[in-house]
Amino acid sequence: MNQLKLTLPESIATALPVLKRLREHQFEAVFVGGCVRDTVLDLPVKDVDIATSARPEQVLELFERCIPTGLQHGTVTVLSGKSAYEVTTYRRESKYETHRRPESVQFISSLEGDLQRRDFTMNAMALTEEGGLIDPFKGLEDLKNGVLRCVGDPNARFQEDALRMLRAVRFIGAYNLRPSQSSWQALIRYRKLMKYIAMERVLAELDKMMAGKTPERALYFTAASGLLHYLKEPMPEEAVLAVDEAYGNRCADESFSKLNRLKETDLRWAAVLMSLSLAGDSAEQTLQSLRFSKLRIKTMISILSIHKQMLDAAINKDEPSIRLRWVEMILMYGKKLAGQWLEIVNALQPSLLNGLNVHVRRLEDWLDAISITTLKQLHVSGRELTEHLDRESGPWISEWLNRLLLEAALGHLPNEKQALLEQAESWDKEETNHE
Ligand code: ATP
Ligand code: MG
Repeated sequence: MNQLKLTLPESIATALPVLKRLREHQFEAVFVGGCVRDTVLDLPVKDVDIATSARPEQVLELFERCIPTGLQHGTVTVLSGKSAYEVTTYRRESKYETHRRPESVQFISSLEGDLQRRDFTMNAMALTEEGGLIDPFKGLEDLKNGVLRCVGDPNARFQEDALRMLRAVRFIGAYNLRPSQSSWQALIRYRKLMKYIAMERVLAELDKMMAGKTPERALYFTAASGLLHYLKEPMPEEAVLAVDEAYGNRCADESFSKLNRLKETDLRWAAVLMSLSLAGDSAEQTLQSLRFSKLRIKTMISILSIHKQMLDAAINKDEPSIRLRWVEMILMYGKKLAGQWLEIVNALQPSLLNGLNVHVRRLEDWLDAISITTLKQLHVSGRELTEHLDRESGPWISEWLNRLLLEAALGHLPNEKQALLEQAESWDKEETNHE
């Protein structure tokens, strides 16, 4: 059989010394997994994985700098030059426990056996030192035809490890594929097994989907698969329904297709929640059930809250009131979050904005122009206020400082001690007159 020869990209070529050393000692060693798939597709390679007939303890003996990352699974991390490579012994997996983990792994001596345990044909190819493609399951042909196909019987493969279903949806999205008919049928048949997958793993996959080049495709297939209905920790009903509805709805499509204009993954997430009209408690519960970190949740919930308040402000409000609300948002959430919200609406325009579209340019100008956003920057202190007005300290101080901050931020007052104290004095007089 004619073997296809590929030129090894730089990122893989730098790992050749590792392969050579194993080969010198009469072991087989090849590149496997995502790096082979991405080389075939002429895409940038992320991590370079190596499979070998050497046992882990033999690998450890051959390399000075290595870390016994997962010896029971056969994995040793070898450091070479400036990079780290995972070197894993050819292995077969035993019966699977609870639809996720094999009970044990068995080291074997044949590469084909190792490729057979891998999830999809495009992930079950290997590349030799000379660039020869070893492809017993016709991954290349599937890639050429744009098909994602399980290695072997999809029913068995998804039952063994339910996470593969989510991986399937991610690859379909990211690599612009369609699932083979039998793989998709099996996925639908066994999607209820998602309940065996730890939510942390689910989030890791969803994050990769969202960070990819075509997140909207991944989202589309996630919705179409119904996988979200069967998670270990259910998302709020409202969120699942919103996803389902968006899947059948061109409008959401329009904003989803612009997601890749946003660089940061969390802004993409926030944009999705905004497009699904999720906010407040249901948004927070959704993010919590997916095990987002507290910090990430805070960022996204703040952005959603800015969104809601800005949309409210835009209803029948004149420009000064919109500006006032915007400056209040900047002071409350900070310039960074306000800027991130603006980045999202700019990227997704005009989908999310209702009455706000016409104001977006000005919101930008106002954000740029704002010269003071925190009490720290205010050129007057609480102590100076009490001394100047000769008043007892009390809760009024922080209230007035914030009022002064707002006035300064709006540009109604210069941020100068004299001007700020005079303003405070006039409020003081007003109050005394009212009493
Ligand atoms: P990515 O670009 O996300 O890194 P990848 O295919 O490299 O994609 P990894 O999780 O890094 O994914 O796994 C490396 C390889 O290990 C895969 O290409 C595949 O051959 C195999 N593999 C990973 N996870 C599974 C799984 N759940 N079931 C079977 N094989 C798997
Ligand atoms: Mg990888």
